[in-house]
Amino acid sequence: MVIKNNISSLPYNTFGLDVEIGTMIQIDSVADLDELYPHLSSDYKVMGGGSNILLTEDISTPLIYVNNRGLEVIKEEEDYVLVRAAAGEDWHQVVLWAVEHNYGGIENLSLIPGKCGAAPMQNIGAYGVELDQVLQVVEAYDLGQGVQMSFHTQECGLGYRTSHFKNIWKDKYIITSIILRLTKEGHHHINTSYGAISSELAIRGITSPTIKDVSDTVIHIRQSKLPNPKVIGNAGSFFKNPIVTKEESDRLLSLYPDMPHYPFGDQIKLAAGWLIDQCGWKGKVVGHSGTYKNQALVLVHHGGGHGREVLDVAKAIQQDVKEKYGVELEAEVNVW
Ligand code: FAD
Ligand code: NAP
Repeated sequence: MVIKNNISSLPYNTFGLDVEIGTMIQIDSVADLDELYPHLSSDYKVMGGGSNILLTEDISTPLIYVNNRGLEVIKEEEDYVLVRAAAGEDWHQVVLWAVEHNYGGIENLSLIPGKCGAAPMQNIGAYGVELDQVLQVVEAYDLGQGVQMSFHTQECGLGYRTSHFKNIWKDKYIITSIILRLTKEGHHHINTSYGAISSELAIRGITSPTIKDVSDTVIHIRQSKLPNPKVIGNAGSFFKNPIVTKEESDRLLSLYPDMPHYPFGDQIKLAAGWLIDQCGWKGKVVGHSGTYKNQALVLVHHGGGHGREVLDVAKAIQQDVKEKYGVELEAEVNVW
């Protein structure tokens, strides 16, 4: 365990925001949590890679920085492996490791920033795949009772960019590792349902893609479309895509026939980025903040600004989309 006092948040968040962290406690193992438990009150925050957090004020409660490591196959069958990844492992490195070993299921989730421990928080998803399709177990530490717990995926309330960890269990558990069930050669389910993947594969002349082809393609698309947080501060999509009733979608489609919309159970998913773009926000700069030029759903911080400026832009966008379309946008990013 490493404890640091009065440090800058700059290296710890992808928005590139600078607030003061009063006390940061770096956890390198579950044993560190056992040691910490008797000394910690219930008031604390947890951080992984800081890629889904908007910092709007100094952090005065203790901040637990999850940094435990470990990646191993814990069970192998003819058609699948179970892999345990420690919460402090970088998610994308785990994806690359899986692809290299020809273990399938997470290739569509290539290049998502952050650590494995945060992956169940919002059930990370991209290009038609969500974590819950491969997640078996979440191992977590209950800092209220000082015990290690184990939850099966079905118990975790995973849904579209949500989970119990993000809602009713908020700040109750520290996720210490995740166990994934990944397919072996001959048993992969290649998913190229998202248009961007299939058209990029077609450009490359690939008709029977491997999991590596899919991973490479996703990496290529993301690098060309999304801002690199090392260059422009951001936390990916700032808002969730709104889910509306079929009636509401039909009402909007009668007014805006070009509006992208996708079936979502018996409801309809709208594209938040399109709604924001149509309100004239794409690429807009407001002070130190704004939206990204290639994807209006990504709010950016150009440096030297304050998290509250980003929040103000987010609120202005919510208001404009509500006024024009009558649709509420809900933040996906965690605002601290
Ligand atoms: P953090 O930002 O550190 O934390 C996020 C939340 O999880 C916080 O509430 C924190 O308290 C909590 N938390 C973190 N670790 C733990 C733990 N071990 N135990 C308990 N709670 C914890 N997300 C997607 O779903 N799909 C995408 O395609 C995607 N693309 C992105 C692209 C870019 C360029 C960026 C910057 C972000 C993107 N994101 C995407 C968002 C983000 O990368 C993910 O949500 C990621 O899982 C966050 O991981 P993190 O370690 O950075 O979490
Ligand atoms: P995009 O391809 O421009 O598509 C816009 C939106 O339409 C996406 O949000 C996506 O919803 C939806 N969509 C597109 N094709 C779809 C299909 N065939 N079926 C159902 N829904 C479809 O999106 P993008 O911004 O470039 O992002 C590409 C993927 O990466 C998306 O899955 C997106 O969620 C993910 N991503 C997530 C973040 C984040 O921070 N959460 C950041 C960047 C990218 P979904 O979002 O539900 O997939």
